Amino acid sequence: MADSIDARLDAAEAEVQASLILAREDARPVAPDASLGRLTRQDAMQAQQMAVARVGRLETRLRLIEAARQRVADDEYGECVRCGGEIASARLEVRPEAPFCLRCERGG
Ligand SMILES: [Zn+2]
Repeated sequence: MADSIDARLDAAEAEVQASLILAREDARPVAPDASLGRLTRQDAMQAQQMAVARVGRLETRLRLIEAARQRVADDEYGECVRCGGEIASARLEVRPEAPFCLRCERGG
């Protein structure tokens, strides 16, 4: 059981790391480039800002994965951090790093 959780967290982390590499590349400031038209440059800057937001989300997810590893070590994995209830296994299959049960996450 613990092995498959580790494998799932490893897979999630690998996926996030790979996405981070791409997002960080897209998040680099747009160089002033005379060959870009005004609209194209606006598009490029908009895409860059979206990539910055994506980097932020991915970094948050990495922290959640690390926190989930700690809960595995503490034998608390699968328990909602907020209410202590059980997190549905179907939910953990999709988001192995999920810290909250669906009810708590929806409740904010
Ligand atoms: Zn909960």
